[in-house]
Amino acid sequence: MNFKGTIFYKGEQGYEEARVGRVFNHLRPKRYPIAVFFPEDEQDVIEAVKYANENSFKIAIRAGGHSWAVWSVRDEGILLDLKKLNNISFNSETKIVKAQPAVRNLDLSPYLEQHGLMFPGGHCPTVALGGFLLQGGQGWNARGLGWAAEYIEAMDIVTAAGKLVRADATQNTDLYWAARGAGPGFFGVVTCFHLRTLPHPKAMMASTFIFPTSEAEPILKWMQEIHASVSIKVEMVVIGQTVPELEGVSGSNIPVIIVHALTFDDTEEESRKSLAPFENCPVMEKAYVKKSYYFTNFKEQFDLQLEANPEEHRWSVNSAWLEGSPENVSKTLSPAFITLPNPKAFSLWYSMAPLRPIPDTMAFSLQTDIYFASYVLWEDENEDEHNKTWLKNIMNHIEPITAGQYLGDSDFRAHGRKFVSDANYQKIQQIRAKRDPKRLFHSYLANPDTVINKNDFEINV
Ligand SMILES: Cc1cc2nc3c(=O)[nH]c(=O)nc-3n(C[C@H](O)[C@H](O)[C@H](O)COP(=O)(O)OP(=O)(O)OC[C@H]3O[C@@H](n4cnc5c(N)ncnc54)[C@H](O)[C@@H]3O)c2cc1C
Repeated sequence: MNFKGTIFYKGEQGYEEARVGRVFNHLRPKRYPIAVFFPEDEQDVIEAVKYANENSFKIAIRAGGHSWAVWSVRDEGILLDLKKLNNISFNSETKIVKAQPAVRNLDLSPYLEQHGLMFPGGHCPTVALGGFLLQGGQGWNARGLGWAAEYIEAMDIVTAAGKLVRADATQNTDLYWAARGAGPGFFGVVTCFHLRTLPHPKAMMASTFIFPTSEAEPILKWMQEIHASVSIKVEMVVIGQTVPELEGVSGSNIPVIIVHALTFDDTEEESRKSLAPFENCPVMEKAYVKKSYYFTNFKEQFDLQLEANPEEHRWSVNSAWLEGSPENVSKTLSPAFITLPNPKAFSLWYSMAPLRPIPDTMAFSLQTDIYFASYVLWEDENEDEHNKTWLKNIMNHIEPITAGQYLGDSDFRAHGRKFVSDANYQKIQQIRAKRDPKRLFHSYLANPDTVINKNDFEINV
């Protein structure tokens, strides 16, 4: 094998660090690949794929290691860790940025800002493009800007046959379609993304209001009533979390409901207009904190994300696309915001309304106008059961309003959920049968009895 990079075989010194050292979730999997390969470059990826083919080893892939369920660490075969594939280059004429899969938004965002541009990358800046884009990519202001995968002009992909190909709207269109939504079910190694960019917003502003948890239900209901009519330049969220302290409120670890609206406008006037509807919150007089119309920027927003998503924690995360009337959704959902299992955990309501149509040129195909996710993090392994059980119960509780799930915040070992349309799931499997007939690449991580792409609660009835 003509491989220039580093390889750690099971049992060798350095293997354990290679296996999980770059994994964000410290709830470490007890799964052990035969070896971990760190390719130096694209040619090394080709060599590794050929080696796996010759030895009938399966392949798992890691770009940034941020998959909550740790999809990259699998029992059979080899793990290709793409950490060295992290180059960025930019064409100032086409405004297309070429970024390799291990590039994080932390690298891409400041790089593009120098050119007055942005890319709707992941909220947490340490997520890598590899996993993020393959599953759809719910980036900054997804309700207005769409899915990040829509911005992929082309991809360079090493196929299961060990061949490097370009996939775009005119060539290898089957791979181009499947790679934009199949997530960890994709059957090739993307070595480079060619991405369209957007002008950087010139006047990012925000309004943030903090309420007692007693207001969870009316706030969730009101947000659902108004969200489709708010300017699409606004990203809006409702967060249930615990804050260490709050001015004017006695005690510590105070559970709260936060409404946060962030604009992607170009002038202060536009931003103020976009944020104006939030001033009419029907329970505003109950707010602990009311901070309206303040200037902000990506750097500040990234810092907030890094604070909310600390390293070296154990994480259990799950999500749902919601459907139902504002009364029903707010009533069913509010326990997820006000009964959090520990002071670090948080729940998120994220608007996608008015729902943009998804192009049929990509596998990604399931969304509703409200996205919900709970992020449960803790440090002590003795608390594993308590935290996991809380999340499991919440996911069960919201089944009546659940339409499916986003792969980015999913764990099929805890709950089987639908993530693409039935037709698209079938098409992914058909393309896979042609492109990866020997099933060289690992696919979705789930329990043996999980039916992939089905809501498990619909199967059992
Ligand atoms: C703190 C945090 C915040 C997050 N915020 C967001 C967010 O705002 N929006 C959002 O959409 N998601 C978000 N996520 C979810 C995240 O996007 C997914 O977990 C994503 O899969 C992570 O990508 P990764 O490359 O870092 O992870 P990895 O674990 O390295 O990759 C996940 C899987 O993707 C596939 N893959 C990755 N790279 C390639 C490649 N080059 N070729 C082929 N297959 C590949 C593999 O199957 C791999 O196992 C967040 C996750 C965390 C931990």
